[in-house]
Amino acid sequence: MKAHESILELIGRTPMVRLRTGIPESGPTAYVKLEFYNPTGSLKDRITYYILKKAMDEGRLRPGDTVIDNTSGNTGSALAMVASVLGLKSIVTTPEQTSHEKIDLIKSYGAEVIITPEVEDHDDPEGFFMVARRLAAEKGYFDMNQYHNQDNVEAHYLTTGPEIWEDTEGKITHFVCGIGTGGNFSGAARYLKEHNKDIKCIAVDPEGSIFAEYIKHNREVKGYAYKVEGIGSDVVTQALHPHLVDEVITVSDKDSFNRARLIARTEGISGGGSSGAVAFAMEQVARKADSGALLVGIFADAGIRYLSKCYNDNWMRQHGYLPQMEAK
Ligand code: PMP
Repeated sequence: MKAHESILELIGRTPMVRLRTGIPESGPTAYVKLEFYNPTGSLKDRITYYILKKAMDEGRLRPGDTVIDNTSGNTGSALAMVASVLGLKSIVTTPEQTSHEKIDLIKSYGAEVIITPEVEDHDDPEGFFMVARRLAAEKGYFDMNQYHNQDNVEAHYLTTGPEIWEDTEGKITHFVCGIGTGGNFSGAARYLKEHNKDIKCIAVDPEGSIFAEYIKHNREVKGYAYKVEGIGSDVVTQALHPHLVDEVITVSDKDSFNRARLIARTEGISGGGSSGAVAFAMEQVARKADSGALLVGIFADAGIRYLSKCYNDNWMRQHGYLPQMEAK
């Protein structure tokens, strides 16, 4: 039988497909790794399964226990799904601006969702980050703490990195990856550089995030709001290992969203805004690279999560990412 015994067996081993948009025809070859092929539709299934399974194997977590984390999206549905299969309870804290679709998706897998007020500061006790930490400490819940948990990095070191190495037969020359917690970048980049130290690892950060300045000048600046979801941060995270970054490319909301839309329309690959940011950065990398180079970028989730945002023309116009309609 080729059939699987559990949905958890379908996590990882995601496919790569050629990307042509923005890549010079006579230039390097580019592929994107489609993380939306994971069961809940994003890369976060990998880390959630790895973190919880490891804790259960080591006896730190038992069936019936409660797991908590803060998230504004993909980790929430991954946590809820994996927890349900492993017989765990799950609680997700999320800020009030998280879309109803995302909250309902998390609930659909059986998680409890706690909505917290929007706060300026990560350390605000009312905010989604601190509420998760406090509840974990007070109630003895298992705290996933994806931003600082080294098992987040380890999950990508053990799965995403090897998959890219094997699927390119070791020919990859440039790895291009968005940074949110930094786990995907750090884990995969470490694996790739251990196998070939010349592979260039390029981190993609949205305008407004603090990461680029931190990586380039080791300075912690104050960030500002941006609309691309899943990448960038307003605090330094321990899942990001800056010494692995060869270059950081900053991409605007407008370029991220328009590139995601263009790729969906021309190549039939529908990624979220962070995938658009990665693809936009890949164009810049491709223009500078040798024609023999082989680029791999990460498409972390799918456009279907953003039908009311970057795939909606009115929303795009409202935010000035598309030209206004001509008055009739
Ligand atoms: N893109 C999207 C849509 C995401 O949800 C995430 C996860 N935050 C990322 C990119 C970046 O992954 P990481 O947290 O491993 O840096």
